Amino acid sequence: MDNCLFCRIACGQIPARKVYEDTEILAFHDINPARPVHLLVIPKRHITSLATVVEETDVPVLGRMLALASRLASENGSPDGFRVIINTGRIGHQEVQHLHAHIVGGPDPVGPMLKRV
Ligand code: 5GP
Ligand code: ZN
Repeated sequence: MDNCLFCRIACGQIPARKVYEDTEILAFHDINPARPVHLLVIPKRHITSLATVVEETDVPVLGRMLALASRLASENGSPDGFRVIINTGRIGHQEVQHLHAHIVGGPDPVGPMLKRV
């Protein structure tokens, strides 16, 4: 996906502050952090969103992304818990169309899950 921002970060065309990388997954700091700790975890292979995940083949990488969350949070300043957010599609307010999990945290609680309507 030539014009996908996170594909370009995954292949090194655009720099990012990486905190973890393996053959399938990359994690890096969000450029505009919403909390003191704000990481993004992405599959290196382009998957548009959770809404497009239908194949069993995507299950292992999704599991590995979640399984990394605790370690990444601890290593980057949120050892006492964190929140994982995966915005999906228009309703989920997904802005970058490459699946990513936000890991947010820091020294203080991140607050209520959602603003009530
Ligand atoms: P979304 O709204 O799609 O769930 O979140 C996209 C996230 O990507 C936002 O938190 C935004 O700050 C982050 N982001 C957008 N462009 C860049 C970039 O070029 N580099 C990094 N590291 N993060 C980005
Ligand atoms: Zn992509």
